[in-house]
Amino acid sequence: MKAGPAPETNRVVACLGGEETALETRPAPKPGAGEILLGLRVVGFCGTDLFKLVTGSAAKGTVLGHEVVGHVIATGYGVDKFSIGDRVVVPHHVPCGECLLCRRGNETMCDVFRENLMEPGAFADVILIRPRAVEHAAYRLPDHLSDEAAVFMEPAGCVLRGIRRAELPGDASAVVLGAGSMGLLHLLVLKAALPGITVTVIDPVAERRGLAGELGADHTAAPGAEALDTVQAATGGFGADAAFDTVGGSGTLEDGLRLTRQGGAVVLFAHAPADDRAGVDLNSVFKFERRIIGTYSASVKEQSEIFDLLESGALDPSPLVTHTMPLDDFTRGVALVKNHQALKVLFTPSQEAL
Ligand SMILES: [Zn+2]
Ligand SMILES: [Zn+2]
Repeated sequence: MKAGPAPETNRVVACLGGEETALETRPAPKPGAGEILLGLRVVGFCGTDLFKLVTGSAAKGTVLGHEVVGHVIATGYGVDKFSIGDRVVVPHHVPCGECLLCRRGNETMCDVFRENLMEPGAFADVILIRPRAVEHAAYRLPDHLSDEAAVFMEPAGCVLRGIRRAELPGDASAVVLGAGSMGLLHLLVLKAALPGITVTVIDPVAERRGLAGELGADHTAAPGAEALDTVQAATGGFGADAAFDTVGGSGTLEDGLRLTRQGGAVVLFAHAPADDRAGVDLNSVFKFERRIIGTYSASVKEQSEIFDLLESGALDPSPLVTHTMPLDDFTRGVALVKNHQALKVLFTPSQEAL
């Protein structure tokens, strides 16, 4: 979007119920005190967006999208942290920091955290950012940091939270189950956050294993016997310190338990089918001190750590972007992800905004 006076109208991708969406014109939001208005630069299409579309859980009229880089086109009263033209990355959720859940370190369970601080959502040419996000969680991008790398701050923060919850030592060995965009992002964040780590990526698709190798995986393997042999060989027969399940479901939980060492952890990162129940051998948890860890979203702390890794260049997820297209092509982008023909899809402003 061009610099200039704040626009009167906004093009948004609105949910119509179920998987249907349409590009709609709405009045553009106006920033109030402490708020900023962003012109979209890029927005990432996230697994959660796909989940909400295919399960029809987004109410009619909802505008999804939350992985956003924009530039400031207007600021509300009292905003001195940002100026017009700044490129900004910002997440959509910020915890209160004071409730019991926040104090216990479960900030992403906080009631306040669930509030969406983007209006109407990030699949839009113009996005309003609420004061709490402006104040606590928005970052100005330095010139050397690309939109395509910075747009991963929120998803990479989610990944880092799972890594922190697994309490891995610096020389850990980890397994990543699945080499889709989130699996490969795990690989990159593990390597950036713990440079001494050894990572084995498991995926049935040879092409994706090849990509994992190119992106720095120490080992790759197909699921099943090959995965077991590879992880055993890589860990002196012990099994991995942690397995990160980016696929979801009882099958990969069992794979994760099989591939981790005694005392190791399986981190559940993905949605399982709604009626899925795990039939795991409880004694393999009890007798061998294994941990099954849930992880959800990211707090401000993980996002700020990720921003530092992005800024220093230690983390660059931009090679995961396979497609970039305007919001007008939203349906095509969704289909590419759904049919596993894309890793990360980014949307740019609608044709009308350019
Ligand atoms: Zn996301
Ligand atoms: Zn809280």
